[in-house]
Amino acid sequence: MAGKNTRRTGARSWGGRLLTLLAALVAALAVWLSQGEAQPFEVHFIDVGQADCALVVSDGKTMLIDGGNPGDGPRIVEYLQAQGVEKLDVLVASHPHADHIGGLPYVVEHMPVTRAWLSPYVHTSATYESLLDGLDARGVAVSVPTAGETFALGGAQCQFAADGRGFDDANNASLILRVEYQAVSVLFTGDAEAPAEARALENGFPLASTVLKVGHHGSDTSTSDAFLAAVQPEIAVISVGEGNSYGHPAAETLKKLTCQVYRTDEMGTVVLASDGLTFGPKGEGAGLGLYIGNTQSGKFHRLGCQYLPSFENMDFFLRRTDAVQAGYAACGVCKP
Ligand SMILES: [Zn+2]
Ligand SMILES: [Zn+2]
Repeated sequence: MAGKNTRRTGARSWGGRLLTLLAALVAALAVWLSQGEAQPFEVHFIDVGQADCALVVSDGKTMLIDGGNPGDGPRIVEYLQAQGVEKLDVLVASHPHADHIGGLPYVVEHMPVTRAWLSPYVHTSATYESLLDGLDARGVAVSVPTAGETFALGGAQCQFAADGRGFDDANNASLILRVEYQAVSVLFTGDAEAPAEARALENGFPLASTVLKVGHHGSDTSTSDAFLAAVQPEIAVISVGEGNSYGHPAAETLKKLTCQVYRTDEMGTVVLASDGLTFGPKGEGAGLGLYIGNTQSGKFHRLGCQYLPSFENMDFFLRRTDAVQAGYAACGVCKP
């Protein structure tokens, strides 16, 4: 795909451009065809601002990992219902910080939950206590896992790569959970920082994953070199709020992530879907389509826009974020 450095060079041949266009069209067609089919495995990184919340759907079974900030409960429940989710088979609270469990008391109150996994870290906050009370009042089976423990979610195998034990710091007490569905996998890290990542490496359970939920909103305290080398993600997702006061994600972390990166502050909710073999963005929310940059004006357009540049000035992108990352600004007319 045309990248950062090709813009406005104008040096590529017509043949080169044509090949890029054909490749983009074939890929767009493949994506378009596959969107018609229901995918058996999906992960939704729900946009909850500066917080974490992810839904995993595996062969119709559902798991929610973290639940945003206090106040996010209603929008999470609304999102789940819009996806046709009526109950949660599994609920995981990575660790008891408010930006991970904030909306969970509301979720538990408004949606049946079969089983919950909690970090061993005990917090004294009112939010944490109301989560425990809610789980108890509804008779939810609550467990604190040990590293290596597994459970099934439809056809997915889930394993705790780290159990957060032995840390007196809530972030490092995050549960690290790897979910494997046939040939693809996702690693959920909560706010695990370098010490917890080192523990996960020591534990020795599989970490290599197709998708990495980047630890601690992309903070430089997480995503240590050794951990990243073990995970080797093809896709990294950063759950982070636009203009947050923490400076997340850190420039240093972004630099390390040489794979495809999706950010909830840039894209809103990120939905990845898999047939068990490949993993990729699903639907409009992920911004997939054919986007055409104008190497002269620096604007990018949808395919049907009346202001498309002439062919020799076109630069092609399959994802909206790729066009933005290449330095193009959205056309004000077709609003891609
Ligand atoms: Zn957090
Ligand atoms: Zn935290």
